[in-house]
Amino acid sequence: MPSGVKSEVRTYQMYINGEWVDSVSNKTSAIIDPSTEEVIAQVPSGNAEDVNRAVAAAKAAFETGPWASTTPQERGRVLFRLAEKIRQNAAMLAEIESRNCGKPIVEAEYDINDAATCFEYYGGMATKILGTVNPVPDNAVSLTMKEPMGVAAMITPWNYPLVMATWKMAPALAAGCTCILKPPGVTPLTVLELANWLPEVGLPPGVLNIVTGSGSVCGTALTQHPDVNKIAFTGSNEVGKVIIKQAADTLKRVTMELGGKSPNIFFADADFENAIDGALFGVFINQGEVCSAGSRILVERSIYKKFVEAMTEKAKRIRLGPPLERETKMGPMVSKDQYETVRSYQEIGKKEAKMSIGGGRAEKFAKGYYIEPTIFYDVDNHARIAQEEIFGPVAAVIPFDDEKDALKIANDTPYGLAAAVWTRDIFKAMRVVKALRAGIVWVNHMQPTYVEAPWGGYKQSGYGRELGPWGIEEYLESKQVHINLNEQPIGWY
Ligand code: NAD
Repeated sequence: MPSGVKSEVRTYQMYINGEWVDSVSNKTSAIIDPSTEEVIAQVPSGNAEDVNRAVAAAKAAFETGPWASTTPQERGRVLFRLAEKIRQNAAMLAEIESRNCGKPIVEAEYDINDAATCFEYYGGMATKILGTVNPVPDNAVSLTMKEPMGVAAMITPWNYPLVMATWKMAPALAAGCTCILKPPGVTPLTVLELANWLPEVGLPPGVLNIVTGSGSVCGTALTQHPDVNKIAFTGSNEVGKVIIKQAADTLKRVTMELGGKSPNIFFADADFENAIDGALFGVFINQGEVCSAGSRILVERSIYKKFVEAMTEKAKRIRLGPPLERETKMGPMVSKDQYETVRSYQEIGKKEAKMSIGGGRAEKFAKGYYIEPTIFYDVDNHARIAQEEIFGPVAAVIPFDDEKDALKIANDTPYGLAAAVWTRDIFKAMRVVKALRAGIVWVNHMQPTYVEAPWGGYKQSGYGRELGPWGIEEYLESKQVHINLNEQPIGWY
């Protein structure tokens, strides 16, 4: 049994300054398996005092601990060893992620692999953080040195718990920062498991701390703490706006990975069968609990009727089931709250548009927060189901007349996270790519994500970028160094 787990009922502790500890309040909260509605673990309900301890540990580790003097090579090796631990324990982590989130086990396995790959990528990048020599006009050497930002707090959502935390921890550690991670209240388990290996892989105490608890208590304490230099947030727009305000008084560096209402655009010349798969995969993967879900499906009018019929037929064959069964394509919603939110949007949709399939709970399951994949069509782009992020398996299909009309509808949203376009005409594809106001655009696919490429939103989907070289820049400061080469006096007085 991992050292952070106290008994068979899986009571976890928090990880602060290299030690497993309870919350000073001694309170815990229950973690639920959304497919059975049963309690699978208890985790500490951290409070502001716990956050203060974690921040103090991270600050000391940044300023005076051994981490402050590690070389980039040593930091890189720590990350490689952590990646190796994740790979060795991939089956255990995938099972916990699947049970905790309700996500299909096969998708959880991809997630765990992605987390290991991300640590490997930034392990390599630790030795490739480059400064510059600047061409100044005087007799001087002007340098730019890259330095870690300091104490970084990471606040993450419940849909990809380990992956979202890794996208932050890996570049932050490679850069030389120290961290406090606050995982989501409902799905904190895999990051707590990860902490078991931190001493063994050589991460000194205080470099990575994990505080569990609610956003309103722990999250607020972190985002207002004067000793936190940087906040990396992934979550909803509503909470993102609150955090920006909370962080403003101490002028923290902030990155925001927020929500989306992404258009998935299908032209008549696209490969029809692939297009249908792409539409379903784009919106129903991970039960639709995906920030980049292609939840607005825009279809050229000449193929619209056939498209809706084909999508509906194929959607009937999507296998809903217990997350741990390998054939399962969609599990339950992550929590009762999320289930209720999605159910309410199904009812809103019934008033706003026509429905071809779904519309309720998947009643063949006696227990669990299962929702039927739901397709609304003839949706007006100004309807609530086309403008608001639902974060569940609810698709809004919208017809369009031509390229200009498609772009007008696609960009008519406050969000700008992702988009996709399906066509065999490369000229049209590139015209559309350029005109779409989104941070990620796929052509003839939707959803693949690579650690080598940037991830982040335009417009109200946030700011800053994760992954690739862009991801590590968000944890680095630039220091300008001027070395005067004139041996004469300055001669000012
Ligand atoms: P959420 O905004 O409700 O919560 C995110 C995190 O913020 C949680 O850890 C929560 O405890 C914390 N939090 C809540 N209130 C806080 C406060 N006042 N101060 C500090 N922290 C606080 O989001 P969620 O429901 O967990 O996740 C779903 C959302 O995340 C969706 O909107 C989705 O689009 C978004 N998301 C975005 C991306 C992306 O890459 N852009 C990826 C995944 C999820």
